[in-house]
Amino acid sequence: YYNSNTVIYLDGRFVKAQDAKTDLYGQSLHYGLAAFEGIRAYKTHNDTRIFKIKEHFERLKRSCELVNMPYPWDNNELIKQTYQLLKLNNLKDAYIRPIVYSAPNMTLIAPQEVSIMICAWEWGAYLGDKQLKVCISPFQRPNPKSTFVEAKISGHYVNSILATTDAKNKGFDEALLLDMHENVAEGSGANIFLEKNGKLYTPTLGNILAGITRATVIELCKVLDIEVIEKTISVEELKSADSAFFCGTAAEIIGIHTLDDTVFKQRWHDSIGATIQRAYKNLVLEKVNYEVII
Ligand code: PMP
Repeated sequence: YYNSNTVIYLDGRFVKAQDAKTDLYGQSLHYGLAAFEGIRAYKTHNDTRIFKIKEHFERLKRSCELVNMPYPWDNNELIKQTYQLLKLNNLKDAYIRPIVYSAPNMTLIAPQEVSIMICAWEWGAYLGDKQLKVCISPFQRPNPKSTFVEAKISGHYVNSILATTDAKNKGFDEALLLDMHENVAEGSGANIFLEKNGKLYTPTLGNILAGITRATVIELCKVLDIEVIEKTISVEELKSADSAFFCGTAAEIIGIHTLDDTVFKQRWHDSIGATIQRAYKNLVLEKVNYEVII
């Protein structure tokens, strides 16, 4: 992720990653209270562009607000500094990780003082480019009455790590997590769509992270005249789908080959997911200016 030349942004300054320090007496390390984002920059013909950067920093702010962490920064300034961070590290295609974490504080009371760190590195497609073998996880997504599931909070990712590790140990590529009612929720770090009879379906918000890629897929479908229905989806409905895919900033759009022992009947190449995958690539690389149409 970093070497001796890597520079990070830390509380208003650019510092060498290997010299940067954090305190070991904070709530973020001990209790998992930190808010973060995962963002991608793409080398387009118009120079490097950070896809949906405004939406990501807005979600970071909202995550902090939900868990009562202060957010004393101006997002326009953070966006400017993030572009500068890419320049200083000579990064064109990059994954960007801002994180807001607590100053020393061992209590269970929301912190008064926080820090922000932003780092970036080159990162290929997180789940690779081959269709995935997915299993239904024995771990459910966090209950929305136990936490704010729409906040991207570090502690929530213990659940994701448990689910992914379990899936890998069983020989699968990724886990699909259900919600507290045993309906389809999302992957450990990506949202899910299924295709049935020429339409796309995706779980409603409420039990999942409101993915920025999920919203982008819905926008793209408007432009491409593909109907998308947000609804509660049972495991049986998912298993009888024609095809399915995960979407997320790190994973981008990636097809699902099998769910447990169910093989989706549609060839990926002919699926709506494959069309969305191509459209998404064109959008982030600014090869087609869909945003003008939206
Ligand atoms: N769900 C979870 C649990 C995630 O961690 C992510 C990645 N942030 C997503 C969905 C997809 O969100 P986005 O498209 O904003 O990256």
